[in-house]
Amino acid sequence: MNCQRCGAQNEEGSQFCKTCGIALGAAPYPPNYAPVYYAYPQPPAKQTNSLALIGLLLAVFVPFAGLVVSVIARKQCIERGEDGERLAKAGIIVGAIYSGVAFLAILAAVLIPLLIVSPLFNEAGVFGPMAMMVMMG
Ligand SMILES: [Zn+2]
Repeated sequence: MNCQRCGAQNEEGSQFCKTCGIALGAAPYPPNYAPVYYAYPQPPAKQTNSLALIGLLLAVFVPFAGLVVSVIARKQCIERGEDGERLAKAGIIVGAIYSGVAFLAILAAVLIPLLIVSPLFNEAGVFGPMAMMVMMG
């Protein structure tokens, strides 16, 4: 085993170091230097863009508004070097998807009743130019 103080190789089971005489197997010899903790200057904590969080939340409940807010938030994050760009990006994606779904839902809610009463349906309920041509003879 190696002496904890001087590092000399000693026979296994030796009680004292043959070089410096310190008791082996005892508590580690205190290092002759105090651990120095360098105070590295911490980079200033980045401010998280609050609009980014609002945008993401909005995107879930009011998709289109959330999409717009998230786009603005992302722009602010980049311009100001603020945190939250990923949050804003998530808001944009969620907002876009939800907006698309909401848009389709509204479209369907408006169009389906229209189509049902539409004369453009043929007897089979098939909508399209073919039905119109059939109806027009
Ligand atoms: Zn020693």
